[in-house]
Parts: sequence; C-alpha cells; structure tokens
Amino acid sequence: MVTNSDSSLLSEVYQISGEKIQNCFQCQKCSAGCPVNFAMDILPNQVFRHIQYGHKDKILASKTIWLCASCHTCSVRCPNSIDIAKVMDTLRSISNRSHTAPGEKNISLFHRFFLGLTKYTGRTWEPGMGLYVMQTGGLGGMMGWTLKMFLKGKISIFPSFKGGRQFRKLFSESGKGGAK
Ligand code: SF4
Ligand code: SF4
Repeated sequence: MVTNSDSSLLSEVYQISGEKIQNCFQCQKCSAGCPVNFAMDILPNQVFRHIQYGHKDKILASKTIWLCASCHTCSVRCPNSIDIAKVMDTLRSISNRSHTAPGEKNISLFHRFFLGLTKYTGRTWEPGMGLYVMQTGGLGGMMGWTLKMFLKGKISIFPSFKGGRQFRKLFSESGKGGAK
C-alpha cells in the first residue's frame, strides 16, 4: 500500500497528547507486553516509527489504534516514560476527524452507540448495545445467551444507573458534546 508522508503528524500528536514520540528508540518493550498484540496489524512500536516518519495514512487505516484497550501496560513499561496509551487515544481522535476509513469495520457505529448511551444513561446498557449488534448483523449468535442472562435477571430492560446528568455535564465541559 502506498502511503503519504506527513511531516506534521509528529507535531500534531505532540500538540494533542504532549508526548514526545521522537524519544522512542524502538526497544519494543511496549509491543512485547501488549495483551492484544496478537490481533494488531501494526505493533505499538511500529506505530511510533510510522509517526516519526509521518506515515499518517498507514496509521489511520490500521486496526491497531482501535484494538488498543487503553490498559496502560505499555505506558508503564516504556523506558522513556512515553504514555503510549494516551498517544493511541490521540490517534483515534485524529482518525475521527480525518476522512480515512478506520481499519476496524463498524468501529464508528460502535463509538456512536457507546458514547450516546453513556451520555444519556450514565453507563453502557445492554439492550441499547443490542441495537448496535442488530445493525451489524450479529444478533443471531447472541440470542441464546442474552435470553439466559435476561431470565437470570442479569440484563435489565431499563437503564439502572442514574448518572446520565453528570455524564452529560462531563461531555459538555469537555467541549465534545458526546455522540449525536
Ligand atoms: S494501552 Fe493499548 S497498546 Fe498499550 S499495552 Fe494496552 S492495549 Fe496494548
Ligand atoms: S517502549 Fe517506549 S521507547 Fe520502547 S519502543 Fe515502545 S514507545 Fe519506543
């Protein structure tokens, strides 16, 4: 795949995250300790190398930035104290604002559902996320265990947590406004 080189990517990531990517010397400790490295198409240390070289398209089209679970294992292992999880967050944010299709199918839809539910109910709410599963064609495989959980009282028809107002305030104060 041909990728464009974008020398401004390094400074864009620095401006948003405050992390100095140029300090990365490719020790690979981040990638070695990442619990989801088996599923990534570009390892975390390779993401950093691509940022240094300004390969913006390659990073924004990768699965890796969306598969990162924000567990911070890499951040505490980095000998240069780079908060890698924060950089992954930053790259997701840059991806959201770009016109590059995300490397993970349905991820934009998932984010809209997840943030929308969090904003209005204060937490994720299983029946609401079921609408996402329906739209992505995965409902058939979930029906059996969803019914079992419902019968055991593990899934509520109505949202049980009342923190929606505080979350809306958080969304509003962060200036994002949440999912539309
Ligand atoms: S924060 Fe993301 S990249 Fe870092 S170890 Fe966890 S899953 Fe991997
Ligand atoms: S652990 Fe830090 S220095 Fe090592 S490759 Fe990862 S980001 Fe670079």
